[in-house]
Amino acid sequence: MTDIEWPPRQPFHMADDAASVKLIQRDHAAVAAAIYRYTDIAFQRGKGVYLYDFEGRKYLDFVAGIATMNVGHCHPAVVAAICDQARTLIHGACHVGYMEPYVEMLETLKAIAPGDLQNGKGILVNSGSEAVETGIKLARYVTNRPMILAFTDSFHGRTMGALALTASSTLYRQRLAGLLTGVYHTPYPYCYRCPLKHDSPDTCGLACLNLVEKALQTVVPPEDLAGIIVEPIAGEGGYIVPPDGFLQGLREICDRHGALLIADEVQTGLGRTGKMFAVEHWGVVPDVICLAKALGGGLPLGAVLGRTNLVDAWPPAAQGTTFGGNPIACRAGLASLRIIQEEGLLAHAVEVGDTIQSRFRRAQEKLAIIGDVRGKGLMVAVELINADGSPAGEIIKAVIREMGTNGVALTKCGTSALRFAPPLIITREQAGKGVELIIKVLQRYQW
Ligand code: PMP
Repeated sequence: MTDIEWPPRQPFHMADDAASVKLIQRDHAAVAAAIYRYTDIAFQRGKGVYLYDFEGRKYLDFVAGIATMNVGHCHPAVVAAICDQARTLIHGACHVGYMEPYVEMLETLKAIAPGDLQNGKGILVNSGSEAVETGIKLARYVTNRPMILAFTDSFHGRTMGALALTASSTLYRQRLAGLLTGVYHTPYPYCYRCPLKHDSPDTCGLACLNLVEKALQTVVPPEDLAGIIVEPIAGEGGYIVPPDGFLQGLREICDRHGALLIADEVQTGLGRTGKMFAVEHWGVVPDVICLAKALGGGLPLGAVLGRTNLVDAWPPAAQGTTFGGNPIACRAGLASLRIIQEEGLLAHAVEVGDTIQSRFRRAQEKLAIIGDVRGKGLMVAVELINADGSPAGEIIKAVIREMGTNGVALTKCGTSALRFAPPLIITREQAGKGVELIIKVLQRYQW
């Protein structure tokens, strides 16, 4: 196939091409309305950092299957691993016998894990929600305590247990009151919109940690606290980077009360932020880490890695899953992890991510619609605001749709932040061209 020009010379007009339109019509007739799409793009194939629609149009992918395709679409080494494993063993089930890809995946995770989790043990599952469910079940079982502390603006999944922890939007919880009990939320340190109305993280004295302490004095008896679950950088909630000291403070609180610190690294883990695990930015070692998304190299795979004394306290057969640790998903994920290591993609993610951030910061000087630019590595958010400083919720939807017509696949996080989570292989030039296109469109939305 010949290479297609990108960026496009003219904006694409999505609605008048038969194959894409037909697929979208079939989709609307068969797929639940709850499955919301940010773009009008119908993906036919992907290669590297680009997606292609049925008309052969090319889109720079700033989403990467929601922070999943870390080494890009259809990387030859990942495809080869999938095909090879598919010819060898498609599924065996971890309860029935032993499978090498399952073992190798956990050995690999141990080798790259922070601190003494290198001596830990793990369980493989199918998704981020299931990893979180497994993590909190483990915490409750091994501590024999019922309560979990979580944070507002967090996203931990949509299954009923994980949803009890998710607090990034009430939309996910409507008519579902009565979720898992024993969960209590305190505010995540979203410093750009400080929930406590402090001016700056320099002066607030980590007031969000004080609220955790307060909860432990008023609603959550410390001897009932099984664990604190936290995203080291809040993902769906808006790519919110907590101030230095926050995660260290949670570690100290957990240590003081004999509770487990559970890091939900489903979105931040495996290179996305420029470190294998985002907790490494703050030198914090959690007791349990939940992983998914990029773990399977694009196939469904999740993991829970914890200290051996905790994981092995769970008796045989107390936990399990039919498909968790499927050998094809493990082999795809292992191939992807190998590429991240061999090609130095952690340092690369930092370099390209910093370039994206500094370009938007420069644009911010002229475009007041850009309220905040934040992130780490290739987990970057550009928060758009209205003239009164409120989140530009409607503008963001329009910008994202318009970027689709300009050959850029983009989504949002939080209420009004453009979300940048491209494959880690994206070059500075590719990212730069995409960013310039977005800035051009933002100029038209500047109030
Ligand atoms: N935790 C985090 C931090 C996530 O970002 C997500 C997904 N966005 C989940 C859990 C749930 O993962 P899944 O959609 O695979 O169930």
